Amino acid sequence: MGIRSKLIAFAVGIAVLAAVVFDGYVVQTLGAELEEHTEDDLAARTALVAAAVAGAGDLAAEAPALAAALSERAGARVTLIDPGGVVRGDSSVPPERLDDLDVHGSRREVADARHLGVGRGERVSKTTRMRMLYAARRLDRPEGPWVVRLAFEPVAIDRSLSAAHARVVEGTLLALALAISAALVGARALSGRLVYLTGVARAMRGDLSRRARVQGRDEIAALGSALDDLAESLERSRRELGGEGERFGAVLESMREGVLVTDERGDITLINPALSQLLGVRGDAVGRPPLEVLRSAGLHELLEEVARSRAAAMREIEIAPASPGAAGPAGRRVVVVNAAPLTLPAEEGRGAAGVVAVFFDVTELRRIEGLQRNFIANASHELRTPVASIRASSETLLDGALDDPAAARDFVEVIDRNATRLHRLVNDLLDLSRIEGRERALSPGTLDLAEQAEATVALLRERAREKRTTVEVEVAPGTLVAADARALDQVLTNLVDNAIHHTPDGSRVAVRARASDGCVVLEVEDDGPGIPAAHQARVFERFYRVDAGRSRAAGGTGLGLSIAKHLVEAMQGDITVVNGAAGGALFRVTLPSATAGAEG
Ligand code: ADP
Repeated sequence: MGIRSKLIAFAVGIAVLAAVVFDGYVVQTLGAELEEHTEDDLAARTALVAAAVAGAGDLAAEAPALAAALSERAGARVTLIDPGGVVRGDSSVPPERLDDLDVHGSRREVADARHLGVGRGERVSKTTRMRMLYAARRLDRPEGPWVVRLAFEPVAIDRSLSAAHARVVEGTLLALALAISAALVGARALSGRLVYLTGVARAMRGDLSRRARVQGRDEIAALGSALDDLAESLERSRRELGGEGERFGAVLESMREGVLVTDERGDITLINPALSQLLGVRGDAVGRPPLEVLRSAGLHELLEEVARSRAAAMREIEIAPASPGAAGPAGRRVVVVNAAPLTLPAEEGRGAAGVVAVFFDVTELRRIEGLQRNFIANASHELRTPVASIRASSETLLDGALDDPAAARDFVEVIDRNATRLHRLVNDLLDLSRIEGRERALSPGTLDLAEQAEATVALLRERAREKRTTVEVEVAPGTLVAADARALDQVLTNLVDNAIHHTPDGSRVAVRARASDGCVVLEVEDDGPGIPAAHQARVFERFYRVDAGRSRAAGGTGLGLSIAKHLVEAMQGDITVVNGAAGGALFRVTLPSATAGAEG
């Protein structure tokens, strides 16, 4: 029901109610008062008629004529009733028919008058069959008490009342018409502004910057300004929320740690790019269970435990990439996961909520720790053998071998050989640790590679001759490299020494160099057994040997190539090994070239 219909119904209701009340109360009261006034008047006229009748000599005989005459003057029907209750004269009944009338002494007003002096009544007359008002008065005469009665037909009252009714109906109809027009005008004024406000409120849904700006001081204007205030505060919260969301998103995007958030069902609601990348997650992970996306029972257990106990927990977990060949680092990752229960402000008090987990990738850290452990184990192992030999020989000497000069010499030689080995090992280890710890500062200068190679090889020729190995240097004079002289010498010595040592007697070793693309490529190639492809990448690791027994027998420490690699890299170069065309090992060192002018 619209406002207009309600207003009309209301106005009509008020008008009808007013009419009913006016008709029922005012008109009825008016009727009663008129009747009472008429009755008083009739009583007064009765007194006058009684006075006129009192003078008659023989009332019984004169009654018909008196009744007729007085009726005309009193303007009412006049009835004269004798002490016996018999009607002796009646202005409305011809004298010859008076005998047909019944005895009137029992009529109420007549009985009242006879006993009390006066009486009144109102009823439909049996004689005239009209509604009549009656007033009676006792007239005491010698023959007994007569009663004078006047009757009046109150048609004038009834006519006035029905006229008043008609006026009320007319007035009501007029009031209805006025009320309906007033309601229509009022409704139009009211609903026009409400329709406008509704339109603005609807428009605000799409555009919060819309304002109603209703003028005035009434309730509708207040509603308009309340609507404007609401839109204002909504707009402000939306702006704030948007800014906060963006900031939160940017933080998650730029975090290097992985972040995972699950809801109370345990499904993923948020996964940041760092975690997707770390674990090689492809596609949209949101809405899926973590076990399906990350394939780690350990992680699943951790998340469940935190969700159940509502207490933070930390665990180191190994996670396989989601799918082979997925984006991100290959292989298993070792991550430390720090998980804590998450309660969103809106869910506070409900207890159940998700879990937020932060992932730290410690794969590299654990790898380095593993290398360190390995290194210590290897170094101890390398040191133990010569130390054990030295102890065994010295004990044997002390136990009496000293007294046998021939045997004593053998034992001392063993001690000397192992001490030399220890010395070399310790030197290499110190070297390695200085290079790794950057304690040994390299100062790259411009070096003529031809001169440098000749000088290094010259020192090794004696050892080569022992094995009947020939070493050829094929480097064009004036090939300039930017390198540290001592480091380059150490690298070259190691490579040529290895080529002499790890090849059979009578082998050939070539040292070559060529300029290429801003670099100088230095090659050391032999025609020995070469290095099996599976070992080629690993020979640069510390203590790695293709044949440990042979290497040790040849006096190697297993650290030479590792030191060489560190030195070359410290000089911004690169070292690799392949097997040459002749099947022997071919070490290739790339170093930055230097121009003659850059010297110094
Ligand atoms: P080592 O002290 O044992 O020589 P290196 O680090 O210098 O230690 O070399 C590592 C291993 O690489 C050697 O033990 C050997 O097995 C292999 N190797 C190095 N150079 C050669 C080569 N020219 N020919 C064949 N094997 C080689």
